Amino acid sequence: MSLNVDALRSAYAIRGHPHASRAEIVRFRDQQIRKLVQHAYRNVPYYRALWDEQGVHPDCIRGAGDMSLLPTVTKTHFRATPEIERVASGIDPEMLIPAASSGASGRPFMIRRSWMEHNILYLPRIRALRSYGIKRSDRALNILNPKHVHARDNKIIGRTLVALKLLPRQKRVSIHLDPEAIAAEVRAFRPAMLSGYPNMLARASEVLKRDPISPPSIRVALVGAEALTPDLRRRIESRLGVPVRDQYGSNECNLMAWECAHGGPLHTCDDTVLVEVVGPDGASVAPGETGEVVVTALHSFTMPLIRFRIGDVAVQGSAQCECGAPFATIQSVQGRMLDMFPLPSGRVIHPYYLSETLIMDDSDWIESFQLTQERIDSVTMRVVSRAEPTEARLARLRAHGAELLGRDVHFELLVVSSIPSELSGKFRPARSHVTSSYDEVTVPALPAPVASS
Ligand SMILES: [Zn+2]
Repeated sequence: MSLNVDALRSAYAIRGHPHASRAEIVRFRDQQIRKLVQHAYRNVPYYRALWDEQGVHPDCIRGAGDMSLLPTVTKTHFRATPEIERVASGIDPEMLIPAASSGASGRPFMIRRSWMEHNILYLPRIRALRSYGIKRSDRALNILNPKHVHARDNKIIGRTLVALKLLPRQKRVSIHLDPEAIAAEVRAFRPAMLSGYPNMLARASEVLKRDPISPPSIRVALVGAEALTPDLRRRIESRLGVPVRDQYGSNECNLMAWECAHGGPLHTCDDTVLVEVVGPDGASVAPGETGEVVVTALHSFTMPLIRFRIGDVAVQGSAQCECGAPFATIQSVQGRMLDMFPLPSGRVIHPYYLSETLIMDDSDWIESFQLTQERIDSVTMRVVSRAEPTEARLARLRAHGAELLGRDVHFELLVVSSIPSELSGKFRPARSHVTSSYDEVTVPALPAPVASS
């Protein structure tokens, strides 16, 4: 019960945070960290045992700056621990709302939250919409993978707020429809905000460009779930004629960061989740440096998630955004570590870097592509072309791929008519079938992402 009262107080504070000072946000965040760490040590057997083993006491943790004293945890650790040891004593896991981990590795584990904890996490989503000028009188259309809604997740707050016209009217359209059907839904609904996975938005926006909404209604396009490459951003922006803004979220924490309304860095949701970008030593890396993302859910007390290695690589941003918003930043998210390509030479290449470099100068004929590493010494690039590519272009791409991967890797280029999405509807621009548990992979020194022109 007292957890619910605390959560209500937090929700009230979060509502006011867009107008808070940086010092106020930091104070709130650090206070929440202290509360959470003390609570987890006292009430959650998993964390108590882990921290005792490491010889670190929660009294040492005064805020975000001390978090590197605590060990990071991974999916592998969670899978090896009975669920009951990860929830606070006295809590029945079955009474909580499951937010299943994506299980990209094929072995999912469960993250659970109380109803209140679950609903608090929608506040940052509303805040992000406001920052993009989406008002409650506007309409929002979300193209997404339809999910089974859990019985305890009654969405009552959301429905009430929409009914009271305090939230934009939402429409959900399945990502499994074809781009023409999606574009027809968009035309009929006339949303101010369109959101979806970047690859599907690129395809739907191509249809919308041929037969536009008149008069135009869309003011901003929001993307998430897949890596937003500079090329995809350019395509969606030019077809819709509106800015594209990136969102970084996860099943474990809901929204973690949202792109600055002026474009560029992503503001981290400092009052709901601590997003650390760390090096191999577990400490935060400097702005501009690449590291692994480690998250702490600041309002999850029933099943705490503290210093969880979420499996993404990001570029650290500045401690506060230049736009004056009181939030810290990350410069970009480079995607799932699981999808990195280990090469025979010992090099580990992030396919995002590979694909950007491959198509940077010669992309106007490429509609979509996918890189697949079948074996450690074999990478295939499938390309759906917009127009018949010339032999010279194909030869150039082949030579470029072979050069990037090195002499000991076979690079195959295939022009295909379509590339299927995953069952979740997510389009994976890169897939590695080489066995590699990301737990064992250390963060390589990746080159900074190629800036879009
Ligand atoms: Zn900003």
